[in-house]
Amino acid sequence: MNNSLNTDQRCPTCGAEQFVIGPQGGMALNIKCVGCGAKWWFCPPFEPVAIDNDDQFYTAPPVILRDWMNRKVAEWLRDHA
Ligand SMILES: [Zn+2]
Repeated sequence: MNNSLNTDQRCPTCGAEQFVIGPQGGMALNIKCVGCGAKWWFCPPFEPVAIDNDDQFYTAPPVILRDWMNRKVAEWLRDHA
């Protein structure tokens, strides 16, 4: 599979950068592409898995996934300094 989610946080199906963050558990995220609606289990470095859970889980405002991840890393580093 095209691994663009892990390499540059773009949708493997349509190349979009914006996603809605859905359910989270541990290091894993469920995300839904704003461009094409594809949903992914996302847990780098593991290969993303296409999923099809309920749209009701995806109510958050869309984010640019790369920026969202960078912000999470920065928060983690601040909290663990
Ligand atoms: Zn897409």
